[in-house]
Amino acid sequence: MEKYDVLIIGAGPAGLFCAEHLAGSDLRVLVVEKNDVPGDKVCAGGLTEKDLELLPVPDDLIEVRMHESVLKAPLVEMRTQHPKPVLFTVDRKRLGAWQAERVRERGIEVRTGVRVQQIEKDHVVVAGGEKIGYRYLVGADGQNSLVRKYLQLPVEKKIFTLQYRIPWHDGPRFEIHMNGRYFHSWYGWIFPHKDELVVGTGGDARYVSPQWMKKRFYKWLEKNGLDVSGAVYESYPISYDYRGWDFDPVFLAGEAAGLASGLTGEGIYQALVSGRAVADKILKKRDTFPEIDQIIRYNAIQHKFLGILIKSGPFRNLILNSILLYLKANKKMKKKVSRTLT
Ligand SMILES: Cc1cc2nc3c(=O)[nH]c(=O)nc-3n(C[C@H](O)[C@H](O)[C@H](O)COP(=O)(O)OP(=O)(O)OC[C@H]3O[C@@H](n4cnc5c(N)ncnc54)[C@H](O)[C@@H]3O)c2cc1C
Repeated sequence: MEKYDVLIIGAGPAGLFCAEHLAGSDLRVLVVEKNDVPGDKVCAGGLTEKDLELLPVPDDLIEVRMHESVLKAPLVEMRTQHPKPVLFTVDRKRLGAWQAERVRERGIEVRTGVRVQQIEKDHVVVAGGEKIGYRYLVGADGQNSLVRKYLQLPVEKKIFTLQYRIPWHDGPRFEIHMNGRYFHSWYGWIFPHKDELVVGTGGDARYVSPQWMKKRFYKWLEKNGLDVSGAVYESYPISYDYRGWDFDPVFLAGEAAGLASGLTGEGIYQALVSGRAVADKILKKRDTFPEIDQIIRYNAIQHKFLGILIKSGPFRNLILNSILLYLKANKKMKKKVSRTLT
């Protein structure tokens, strides 16, 4: 059996960022990925400046830089021109390939097409029967994490999502639509990519059925003149059920730890931050992780707000209209929210 000091399961943003931060140490590190290529993941591909501060994605990987955002509630629309780009979009496969290349260049092995099927105390068994030994195990294996199951941590909070990639040549659009009639307590998004728009929505199936979501989503698409007849359909869950990340010598990073936002669905930033934290913990570089504490605090605020929207029933649209009206009137607050979101 081959033995590694650190075995990372999953070559998404969390696993590859963790590997990158372990490079240069004297630890023997292996990343295994079940797909044939890293980064092949359903995603709207939206990054903000805080992602790019952590991960210096090269210019040619950024498909669109948006300076204009549109926030829509049923009766109020807020169009904002931002001095700096507020959204950057990337193709997840290209991002994954680039991240994996960086990791390999730093001397770390990334093996694709290797699915971990079983986890034991000091080794895993992959499809085909091979055993791989480990001293530290990192679960960066996403929303349906096997490592999380091994730790016996349940996942109760999940967002069901659906999105379409629509061929598009009429100029970029970055829009967030909040309307209880179509999206319950969540929202619909329009993200611009090279020659396409990614339009989608999501919601927690404990409060809104996927059937309801789909039906309303199609109504919203029709109302907004978005034709999905030649578009690619995609659907994938997002886990936002955080129950800890440090179970030394086993660690969870990114969505395996449930660190994505249950309100916005954003998860790449959290994956990068936690991937790096796991590496620092294994390298015994530090004992405190304020950036993870901040994500947990920030997610808790978002989830409180989400709880209010879920419970608000017929008043939901009133709340959404009032928030946008308030933001429109209060420039300081608008700047603050825009800074927090990016
Ligand atoms: C529709 C949709 C839109 C989204 N849009 C955005 C967005 O615009 N911006 C944003 O920040 N976030 C977005 N997210 C969330 C974001 O995609 C995730 O939070 C992020 O990818 C999590 O990164 P991760 O590395 O933790 O997990 P993942 O990216 O899911 O990577 C996990 C990896 O582990 C591999 N794996 C799983 N099990 C095994 C196994 N047993 N053996 C080997 N490998 C395994 C998987 O194949 C995968 O490559 C979106 C999510 C969805 C569903």
